[in-house]
Amino acid sequence: MNEQDNKPIVQLRKIKKSFGNIKAVNGVTLDIKKGEFFSLLGPSGCGKTTLLRLIAGFEKPDSGEILIDGNEVASIEPNLRPTNMVFQNYAIFPHLNVEENIGYGLIQKKYVEKEKVKMVNEILELVGLGGLHKRVASALSGGQRQRVALARALILKPKVLLLDEPLSALDKKLREQMQSELRALQRAVGITFVLVTHDQQEALAMSDKIAVMFDGKVEQVALPQKLYDRPLTKGVASFIGSMNFFSAELLAEKEGNITVHSNVFGEIVLLEGQFSGQPNRGDIELGVRPEMLDISVGASTTINNFVKGKIEEISFLGQTTQFRVILLASKETILVLLNNSSKKLNLFQGDIVKISWEPSSFVGFS
Ligand code: ATP
Repeated sequence: MNEQDNKPIVQLRKIKKSFGNIKAVNGVTLDIKKGEFFSLLGPSGCGKTTLLRLIAGFEKPDSGEILIDGNEVASIEPNLRPTNMVFQNYAIFPHLNVEENIGYGLIQKKYVEKEKVKMVNEILELVGLGGLHKRVASALSGGQRQRVALARALILKPKVLLLDEPLSALDKKLREQMQSELRALQRAVGITFVLVTHDQQEALAMSDKIAVMFDGKVEQVALPQKLYDRPLTKGVASFIGSMNFFSAELLAEKEGNITVHSNVFGEIVLLEGQFSGQPNRGDIELGVRPEMLDISVGASTTINNFVKGKIEEISFLGQTTQFRVILLASKETILVLLNNSSKKLNLFQGDIVKISWEPSSFVGFS
């Protein structure tokens, strides 16, 4: 990527938008880079659709600035912005055929017929609908309708494509297939995609970068893996995947690393980056993802860090098995997730097991 490509294509500055006394967007500042697949992720009602509609121009902010490709867009109508939107319900015309639906946006733009045909053909190939020109939209499957909606939104090559939960109407299998297709399509066209989703798996699978929103505010913006491995807040940690939380006490801080004591795990050193917040307060929260823990039985001498517990519940989840374990000493509950392909442990409800960990698997929040 050169310097130019690294420039933000969308810049949001202190954006606020209320509906009556509901603060839908409450002070969002965000940069979205050119060519990025960017997701706005958060629970229902957190303001992500409103933010997308503000970028599109369907809503006006109460305050703050929106710049697209360096230009303030406050006074620019939606149809004149260099953006286009794909809606949740596709909004395609059921009585028109595929090429009429896709060419619809070209009618107003006075393209000559030959040029129009070429553009439609190209985009149909790109979205995998080559040969379906004359099929009436009402006779298309859900996945095909979604492709028509994408093609129609992309044909005029917007600088930014805004996608509002575009896959939510599809069944699980098709949704997963469309996730990788959408990702490949974005790579092929090189256009910045901004996706709204409440599905963390979808955001992790597709995005270059994710902004997690709660209550009208952005809580963390990061690469998917960073968001998962190093969530900055307990809210982000619980929304993305699942995490076990335990209280702990701060014992010492030295050169960015901190030592904490937990009744469950004993003394743990958290290195810089494993901890967020101010490490000068007494109590902190320790988090560890279920799949970062291990279970063993018997008298293995190779495990350094372990705590004993009794298996309370075993849930077979296909690829993985989840164990709910009650720790013997503290009586606290801990979840452990084991990959079914990695080992075959003969474990049953009521078994006494050792739960072990690596100190680098923990995160701390103040
Ligand atoms: P969802 O995933 O359920 O669509 P969201 O995160 O996209 O949720 P928004 O649709 O942006 O959230 O809504 C944020 C808040 O603003 C909600 O409380 C919603 O009810 C409210 N809201 C959004 N649009 C309007 C509107 N036009 N009039 C009144 N309230 C609105």
